[in-house]
Amino acid sequence: MMAKADILIRNAKVATGEPGAPMAAWIAVAGNRIMALGYGDAGAWIGTRTGVIDGHGASLLPGLNDAHVHLFAGGLALTDLNLTGIRGAESLREAVARYRATRPGLGFISAFGADHGLVSDRRTPDRHDLDAVCPDIPLMIMAVDFHTAWANSAALALAGIAHGADLPPGSTVVLDDAGEATGALLEFGAIDLVRRCNPASERHSAAAQRPLESPVVSAEDRAADKTVLRAAIQHCAKLGLTAVHNMDGSLYQLELLSEIERDEGLPVRVRMPFQVQLGQQPHDLAHAAAWRQRFASEKLRCDFIKIFADGVVESGTANMLADYAHKPGHSGAPLIADAELQALVVEADRLGFQVAVHCVGDGAVRQVLDAFAAARVANGWRAARHRIEHVEVIDPADLPRFAELGVVASMQPCHAPVRGEGYLGLIGPARGRYAFASADLRAAGAAVVLSSDWPIAPLEPMATLHAALTREAWPSGGPDHRIGLAAALDGITRAASWIAFDEAHR
Ligand SMILES: [Zn+2]
Repeated sequence: MMAKADILIRNAKVATGEPGAPMAAWIAVAGNRIMALGYGDAGAWIGTRTGVIDGHGASLLPGLNDAHVHLFAGGLALTDLNLTGIRGAESLREAVARYRATRPGLGFISAFGADHGLVSDRRTPDRHDLDAVCPDIPLMIMAVDFHTAWANSAALALAGIAHGADLPPGSTVVLDDAGEATGALLEFGAIDLVRRCNPASERHSAAAQRPLESPVVSAEDRAADKTVLRAAIQHCAKLGLTAVHNMDGSLYQLELLSEIERDEGLPVRVRMPFQVQLGQQPHDLAHAAAWRQRFASEKLRCDFIKIFADGVVESGTANMLADYAHKPGHSGAPLIADAELQALVVEADRLGFQVAVHCVGDGAVRQVLDAFAAARVANGWRAARHRIEHVEVIDPADLPRFAELGVVASMQPCHAPVRGEGYLGLIGPARGRYAFASADLRAAGAAVVLSSDWPIAPLEPMATLHAALTREAWPSGGPDHRIGLAAALDGITRAASWIAFDEAHR
């Protein structure tokens, strides 16, 4: 006797993700597995206990995936002041006042989603702009790129950086000619000096830290942090996401998620990397191998490696092959030397890990492709599905290397500025032709996976689809980087489960 379905959905437009048979009309499910799908009569799958659902001709999509999110920051951001779409000093004043009105006694305001042109089209914000809307308590505003922030005078004073700070290369507390902080903070090293003063979000630095051993955390903080993560994953599930890659790479978050899974179950699958920190050596990847063994359930896995190769274009920390257009003599710098990077990538590849590297500038993209090529020479070919995160700018010579090396472009359509003038001012028009070039990468045969980078961009999968489908050419008349609906859907469904090695059962 033929097996019967537990659930049969019929009279639907089922998007299968299969290039040869992209649509079906019905789908039969047993347990948590798809048994069959097709056109025509599905009656043979219906038994006495089958729940039959009439789709009334509506679309049925595969589970949505987000291959690049930051769960803890996202969970915290659910209660921060959202400045998305706010332009001009008056709108900023109103937004801050509205936020404070519902939070009496608030001691620190953390805001996000601000455009670099928040108060003016001609300049970025400074502490005076922030003091004008919030003179009495610390205010820190995170820019949309999440690598730049602006602090008011109270926040600078609280952090003790009103006259600058000694920081590692790449991070800067920007000073004016008189040696006073302008309010601009570039990169995490500088931003964290203020962020850790926020009593509400100081947990972020703790939760995003990546010690190799379990951190010591009070029971109270642990419970509060778990609440943040729980809110984040519930928010993911609410938006239709069934799987996310939490790029934070922190053992602490792995432990908290593992406890949530044990006690109440996870509403989404979570995959996390081991994140290599500055100065770590190939032998430190032994810890990654131990984490991979320890976190290997159906819903929670730690089975890949994350490395940072550079910063971001907006703060001049992305590693470019040639000078920035607005700053002759400056091309950014790699965060890690070639030899050091190659040693890490070769060892990670030898251990069977997928490696994901943050590369924004064309110099970083080339450096990392070279490292993946070195791994292939050292270890031989393997379907490693190594990935480059962001790929904001690429030299055209490197376009075919993704397909040649089997490297995945993991891109975030919402990161591309809607209008390119500001961005083009930083990189110049020639490189602008190859900025956020997802269509060129696809044309060159690269696998392209789409994600949000939440909370840097909205988590809503429809926002990612919208950006991928409507990307404006810049300058107008310039190259068309839109990808069609089928490719965009593929990037948040089939390709995103493939990048997690789950294509056989998801
Ligand atoms: Zn990210």
